[in-house]
Amino acid sequence: MIRIKEIKLPLDCSQEDLKAACVKILRCKDSDIKSVEVVKKAVDSRNKDNVFFVFNADVTMTDGEERFVKASRYKNLEITEPYVYVSPPVRRTSALRPVVAGFGPAGFFAALILARADLKPIVLERGEDVDTRTRQVRDFWLNHNLNTESNVQFGEGGAGTFSDGKLTTGIKDGLCRKVIDELIEHGAPEEIGYSATPHIGTDRLGGVVKKFREEIISLGGEVLFGTRLTDLIIANKSIQGVSYITRDGKRSDMECDTLLLCIGHSARDTVEMLYSRGLNIVQKPFSMGVRIEHPRQVIDRAQYGSFASHPALGAAVYKMACHPEHGRGAYTFCMCPGGTVVAAPSEENRMCVNGMSEYARDGENSNSAILVGIEPPDFGSSHPLAGIDLQRKTEEKAFVLGGGSYAAPCQLVGDFLNGEKSKKLGSVKATCPTGVTPGDIRECLPKKITDTIADAVVRMGRMLKGFDMPQAVLTAPEARSSSPVRILRSDILQSNIRGIYPCGEGAGYAGGIVSAAVDGIKCAHAVLTDENDDMW
Ligand SMILES: Cc1cc2nc3c(=O)[nH]c(=O)nc-3n(C[C@H](O)[C@H](O)[C@H](O)COP(=O)(O)OP(=O)(O)OC[C@H]3O[C@@H](n4cnc5c(N)ncnc54)[C@H](O)[C@@H]3O)c2cc1C
Repeated sequence: MIRIKEIKLPLDCSQEDLKAACVKILRCKDSDIKSVEVVKKAVDSRNKDNVFFVFNADVTMTDGEERFVKASRYKNLEITEPYVYVSPPVRRTSALRPVVAGFGPAGFFAALILARADLKPIVLERGEDVDTRTRQVRDFWLNHNLNTESNVQFGEGGAGTFSDGKLTTGIKDGLCRKVIDELIEHGAPEEIGYSATPHIGTDRLGGVVKKFREEIISLGGEVLFGTRLTDLIIANKSIQGVSYITRDGKRSDMECDTLLLCIGHSARDTVEMLYSRGLNIVQKPFSMGVRIEHPRQVIDRAQYGSFASHPALGAAVYKMACHPEHGRGAYTFCMCPGGTVVAAPSEENRMCVNGMSEYARDGENSNSAILVGIEPPDFGSSHPLAGIDLQRKTEEKAFVLGGGSYAAPCQLVGDFLNGEKSKKLGSVKATCPTGVTPGDIRECLPKKITDTIADAVVRMGRMLKGFDMPQAVLTAPEARSSSPVRILRSDILQSNIRGIYPCGEGAGYAGGIVSAAVDGIKCAHAVLTDENDDMW
């Protein structure tokens, strides 16, 4: 195949236009080209008077690809080979079925790989299946009945199920392609395979995860919902079994010699248990901040100028960061174009927020987090779990500041920058489903964070017109951007207890859906290859 990069075409271009561009670049006849496949599609909106698409395409010729590459004067092209995923050989000999705790992206990708290798994994998931969970989350948003076992953080699909389902990632790993291909194979929209800002949307994610579950079960695996890992049975520095509790309160033990811990960044009770059982856990830097909301039109116009309403564009995205000379940096995170702020707690009397969008991204507002890095010295103690304490304290203050019924504290940008309490909202409607309470968000977040955010909002307002508009709404706190702990693991991905594989975001090895899924695949590969180590 010939990969042609940076093909510039107008917003209303067609597949025929793309082929014609390839014919022109390769100086060949139309009939010489067997197929043209889009492998990347991005928007170039640097010049607001001329917004266009940029494509990378893989072209399969009927014959003589080398010859056409040599003859072309176009610089951005190369011969390329399609990505091929290779599963490692299965050297594992144990007859015991591996146990996977958690059915988020790390867990369901790990379980899929183990199931396809005929290991019949048993998945323990404390939350409920996605349909039940969706009802429970809607009940919480509507009636403020928080289910601490099945909510925005816990349940089938993991933390990312009520999200924009953005699939962008900072990691460069061939397995990212595998993740995207599997998501498409299980029902995700095709364009995630080539869009520069791929997303699935919360309304489609549930269906995709269900298909993973169905395949795992069809291969002899089991997925036990409403089932929480509560303890470990350890002997001679090796896992011998796990204890778990089901939704009806029944406690049981299960023999196992392999446990993949895919528990996510919010399983604080489970991390406390792991720590008490002697797993090596250390503090890990994470970030905290707020969500900022603007009318979607303001962001679309700032990014696309007069092209903002072009049907081929959809809601605009942004990604900004600022690193002031003196002081901490801040960055926008998990942007939800045409989306809403979500109430995302998992513990009683603690409040935190996050964001989500539907596939169409056609909501009235657009929002993102503005986050500031938190380092171990900020945790206030050297205890490995001190970061969790800091999150909890922040969320407790927010719960009280919001009025004590899971409404979120909020503030207008104008008031925030003037150091004034907000008494009421303005033209921008706040979308947090449990409601908001105007006030002063400085009362629930560390000063280092709010000072940095105040500086950042102004700087980002210079980068993106309208970002610092006084009517924009800040909702707090975004406290769970990633895990505040890391569960140590060796090169063969096992903890200091043999047979336990710390995996995904909760263990401190991923941030986001794709990188968690990649880590899940890697841990499953490690189980298949069953390498040994002399550390035990
Ligand atoms: C609202 C929201 C929106 C997000 N939006 C995006 C986005 O658009 N794009 C993106 O890349 N990332 C997004 N993220 C982050 C992303 O969801 C996570 O990075 C990713 O899900 C981490 O995957 P994981 O499998 O490691 O953990 P998780 O997805 O957190 O899954 C862990 C699972 O383990 C279960 N569990 C925990 N403890 C136990 C136990 N003791 N026993 C049994 N089961 C247990 C939990 O119930 C949970 O289902 C979002 C997160 C949230 C909360």
